[in-house]
Amino acid sequence: MGGMTEQLGLEGMPTRLFSCTPSRLTTWLDCPRRYRMTYLDRPSPQKGPPWAHNTVGAAVHLALARWWAEPRARRTPVVARGLVDSGWRTDGFADSAQADRWRLRAGDMVERYVATLDPADEPVGVERTVAVRTGSLAVSGRIDRVDQRGDELVVVDYKTGRSVLTTDDARGSLALALYALAGRRTLRRDCRRVELHHLPSGQVVGFDHTDQSLARHLSRAEAIGAEAVAAAEALLAGGDADALFPARVGPRCGWCDLARACPQGRAAAGPLRRPWDGLADELDQPAAS
Ligand code: SF4
Repeated sequence: MGGMTEQLGLEGMPTRLFSCTPSRLTTWLDCPRRYRMTYLDRPSPQKGPPWAHNTVGAAVHLALARWWAEPRARRTPVVARGLVDSGWRTDGFADSAQADRWRLRAGDMVERYVATLDPADEPVGVERTVAVRTGSLAVSGRIDRVDQRGDELVVVDYKTGRSVLTTDDARGSLALALYALAGRRTLRRDCRRVELHHLPSGQVVGFDHTDQSLARHLSRAEAIGAEAVAAAEALLAGGDADALFPARVGPRCGWCDLARACPQGRAAAGPLRRPWDGLADELDQPAAS
């Protein structure tokens, strides 16, 4: 699983490209140890149990994708709620009462959100896979939704977490910038606007990239990829895994699926979080309204 593919360069010399997703690159940035355990170690270390907040996120994403697959006349808020219900899973919740409460909340979120959409405004892509090659990277990823506005494409990413978002989140996101570049390449239309749609609040934050800001993200992605490749090659050559892929302990260790296999992170994170601890406001939410 080296993630390398070969391509003939202009000179006819094979150039090795690093095949990756945006999240592979950001995992390297967040924690090289986690990167190694996720992408290189085989067999993969055992993950912790599923998180309830991820179950909510997956249900919302699935319902929104299926909503666009419905015939136009059925693209209504009520149908959207029904899609949350029919795709609902209970992984990670404390009990069925909590799962039910969150099914209703997720239904509320999706119903409210699609009420703001024009069902006739067909997206260019829904869960669309896009890809772009650079001198050293072959990046691919899946965009939640690609809209067309005027002559340009817009990258839309749904967010369901508790944190409130700012324009900086849209501007600074390496993943969104790479999606814009890959969307441009795969769909052959200009694409510079990226948007985060925060379902719990209905907030939309966006950023209009320029060629320069996209180029900056791209060179950052290439630098990250080069670091990750160099570390993997040094490991293959017999280097020390812990030195090449240091554990970067921090608050995120409490949410790391691989903390059980990582003594340093486990020590830093303190007691393991419960699978439903990532649900926002769970304690003071008597019920969805
Ligand atoms: S527990 Fe923390 S240090 Fe360990 S792999 Fe996960 S994020 Fe990295």
